[in-house]
Amino acid sequence: MERFDVLIVGGGPAGLAAGLVLGRCRRRVLLCDAGKPRNAPSRAMHGYLTRDGLPPSELRRIGREEVRRYGVELRDLEVVDARRVPGGGFEADLADGATIAARKLILATGMKDVLPEIAGFREFYGRGVYPCPYCDGWEMQDQPIGVFACGDQDKACRYALMMLRWSRDIVFFHHDNGAPPTGTTRELFSKHGITMCQRPIARLEGDDGRLARVVLEGGQVVPRRALFIKIGERPHSKLPERLGCDTTEEGVVGEARFHGATDVDGLYVVGDASPRVQLVSVAAAEGAAAAVNLNMAMQMEDLGVECK
Ligand SMILES: Cc1cc2nc3c(=O)[nH]c(=O)nc-3n(C[C@H](O)[C@H](O)[C@H](O)COP(=O)(O)OP(=O)(O)OC[C@H]3O[C@@H](n4cnc5c(N)ncnc54)[C@H](O)[C@@H]3O)c2cc1C
Repeated sequence: MERFDVLIVGGGPAGLAAGLVLGRCRRRVLLCDAGKPRNAPSRAMHGYLTRDGLPPSELRRIGREEVRRYGVELRDLEVVDARRVPGGGFEADLADGATIAARKLILATGMKDVLPEIAGFREFYGRGVYPCPYCDGWEMQDQPIGVFACGDQDKACRYALMMLRWSRDIVFFHHDNGAPPTGTTRELFSKHGITMCQRPIARLEGDDGRLARVVLEGGQVVPRRALFIKIGERPHSKLPERLGCDTTEEGVVGEARFHGATDVDGLYVVGDASPRVQLVSVAAAEGAAAAVNLNMAMQMEDLGVECK
């Protein structure tokens, strides 16, 4: 069986940043990536210092080139399962049938957004339908914006109030028509001119590939250039759960620990899969921090130095 110092699962910014640091520590690293990064539908990545506006695929291309330079081995395939080995370390089964061993394991497997089964949402996802105002709010400033959220009405409405940073023309669509918002929220909506649509959305329509309007059941048309959504997300992979990490019912890692460490000895979770802010720069920083943390741990293990 092939043996590595570290197996990194996921080749987005979190996994690649971890690989870069570990490669430079002269570690034997295998990075496996199933090739479905979260921001793939987006044309440009924003808010990453010195890389603002770069296409996400270009960031990946540069990152992959950089980690290869330091001897990190890249395999474009899924890690289908992984387990702890008695006595320490991990074994992982790869989609090509191979099983490999690694002393430490970094999960940088990311998250995916839940989209409603309503016509147009998939088509415009990342190009008119956005999950993150910090990523795409600036580009949509002063445009007619929709906010589509679910769950507790007041919490959902706060998302609409936050969007006032970027536009004064906001219509709020509630996904599952839960309990009506309280008086305070209603007052704030009316004070700031936010309109509320109670009818369910029937479909989204566009012109020349750009989102142009939201059509409600019954036929009412609401012209909108962007729809910011908050209806849920799920982990890309069940590996954190399968390896015994503390997760929520949906399989989301529950608690952030020092530099990506988890309850499971030798296992690190970084990037969107960890419970922190979800941005490319944060994912890369988490990957790098975990790499520093686990390189130190391995070095002390090798020298027989006990660290508490
Ligand atoms: C539409 C959209 C636009 C966005 N725009 C921005 C932006 O402008 N600026 C910004 O800072 N952030 C943006 N984000 C957020 C950003 O995409 C994430 O914060 C970032 O991608 C997280 O990086 P990551 O490495 O944790 O995960 P990802 O980039 O999602 O990478 C995870 C990788 O792991 C792989 N993987 C999962 N499971 C396995 C497995 N079992 N085996 C092998 N591989 C596996 C996946 O296929 C994927 O390639 C945007 C998100 C979306 C949805």
